[in-house]
Amino acid sequence: MNNNYSLMIHGGAGTLDHVKEGKDAVRYLESIRIVLEHGRYVLSVGGSAMEAVEVCAVMLEDDPLFNAGCGSVLNENGKVEMDAAIMDGSDLSAGAVAGISNIANPVMLARLVLAKTEHVMLVGEGAMRFAEHCGMERVPDKYFLTKQRIQQYEAAKRKGQQLLDHDAAGQEQKLGTIGAVARDKQGNLAAATSTGGIINKKWGRVGDSPIVGAGVYADNVTCAVSATGYGEDFMRTVLAKRISDLIELKNLDANLAVKQGIEYLQNRVKGRGGVILIDREGRCASAFTTKKMIHGWIENGGETMHRF
Ligand code: ASP
Repeated sequence: MNNNYSLMIHGGAGTLDHVKEGKDAVRYLESIRIVLEHGRYVLSVGGSAMEAVEVCAVMLEDDPLFNAGCGSVLNENGKVEMDAAIMDGSDLSAGAVAGISNIANPVMLARLVLAKTEHVMLVGEGAMRFAEHCGMERVPDKYFLTKQRIQQYEAAKRKGQQLLDHDAAGQEQKLGTIGAVARDKQGNLAAATSTGGIINKKWGRVGDSPIVGAGVYADNVTCAVSATGYGEDFMRTVLAKRISDLIELKNLDANLAVKQGIEYLQNRVKGRGGVILIDREGRCASAFTTKKMIHGWIENGGETMHRF
């Protein structure tokens, strides 16, 4: 069996034309590279795929460049409501949280749901109580409310739009949802996705990111997938699971599976977004219908690559 490790992360779908050049572009690329190098270390010393995706997702949540954790976008009330999930491909166990606020690292809470409860998903106040019970501290609103996020929200509100973080909203600063997939040296796969959702979304709206089979999926038999884009499109097509099924039932390779999955998203619902995938052999693949998707990868212990 291949005993190398692979890791892939994304920082959201959509155009980043506004940062194609200059220091902002460098910051995105630097961030992606640093996170990948941390994940590489975890996997290279024998850490599990679950550990690697959690470490990467936490680092991305802690970076205000991205639409997750401290960089989350604002809902119609100007508040942060986040969704996150993590899934272990070795036994299909999963943990998810939705509609939570004042938690710095939703992906850690999702992992606690997996580890400490018999449930897959906790939402809203119940999830927050559970966080408290686990000793997770609540962070104040001001931790999330950055100047850029407030401006971005006000622009979307003025136009009456609900937008993807990287959509052209007439804002200078666009940020993006995050995800990580990994294969460890033992051949186990894992996936994690974390988001603040879409800008100016309805209060209580939950997207695809915490929904197993839509925005996140991992199965050692097939692949690990994390999605980004308009969540409703991914929920209606159950896209992450569909891509896994393409590998299992049609024996497609990683590249063909994401290609056909994204074609389905486009053809059936004119879906806007993208996916990253690692298959059971550690092959990395990605596809998207948006102009761009920030992502980076390490395939079977190889060089660190990134693209946006
Ligand atoms: N998929 C996320 C959601 O709809 C948004 C994103 O990926 O940027 O909540």
